[in-house]
Amino acid sequence: MYNGEDLFKKAADLIYVSKKTIVLTGAGISTESGIPDFRSPETGLWENMDPMEALSAKVLFNEPKKFYKNGFKILTSMINVEPNNAHYILAKMESMGIISSIITQNIDNLHKKAGSKKVFEVHGNIRTATCVNCGKKISFDKMDEKVNEGQIPPRCDFCKGIIRPDVVMFGDPMPYEFEIAIEELRTCDLLLIVGSSLLVSPVNYMPDLVDRIIIINKTPTPFDEKAEVIIRDKASVALEKIFFYLNRQ
Ligand code: NAD
Repeated sequence: MYNGEDLFKKAADLIYVSKKTIVLTGAGISTESGIPDFRSPETGLWENMDPMEALSAKVLFNEPKKFYKNGFKILTSMINVEPNNAHYILAKMESMGIISSIITQNIDNLHKKAGSKKVFEVHGNIRTATCVNCGKKISFDKMDEKVNEGQIPPRCDFCKGIIRPDVVMFGDPMPYEFEIAIEELRTCDLLLIVGSSLLVSPVNYMPDLVDRIIIINKTPTPFDEKAEVIIRDKASVALEKIFFYLNRQ
């Protein structure tokens, strides 16, 4: 696929003239930090297991032993990971007023670690966990500690209810944050999509809500036809080049 300099410049021009740009990120932005995505051939998690089962609400509540043996390990593997340049450039773009916010499907906390402030984590996060009985929140680390001590499922210190990660599992309803993100999207004129196959519902409705879209993704997506610019490059490389051209405006 052609990835000439003019594509990066065109993306920068679109961002420059846009009144409000929102960024939508997926697992692909974090592969360069070492977290596998779901669908990349050979390296994607889907190659070894079915994440829709391992990370399902059904398994979490009905087969806790299985959940803490498989799905939970996917979550804990993301704890000590650091952001990469793509996350840092987006944080810089926000602080310079170039982008308005980030909507992310990722749960890995890397946008916030990189310094981004306005982040809609529509699939939750691995910072906290909640008791499903009394609603008390604890840190994800504390929950992990309980699991390592053999508490499966982990229980609330106050009411003994089951504690679950604040991650949206397959089969869970979408959180309130998703509704706010949708409202934000209705007020923007450009959506910059980074590292998402755009196959996971309901996030895959989001590109339809915005007039103009740019896609940075290594492989084709169902929205390629709508995109004004498609860049098939690594997220960090593409964002670095776009940022370079933005700084020359
Ligand atoms: P996906 O796996 O379906 O798609 C990722 C896309 O990113 C692929 O199309 C791939 O070609 C592209 N990609 C991979 N590395 C890239 C790179 N360096 N630069 C540019 N593109 C790259 O991921 P999705 O669309 O986010 O949907 C999967 C679901 O999985 C989401 O709901 C998300 O919550 C969850 N998930 C999250 C993480 C995480 O938090 N890091 C990791 C795995 C899965």
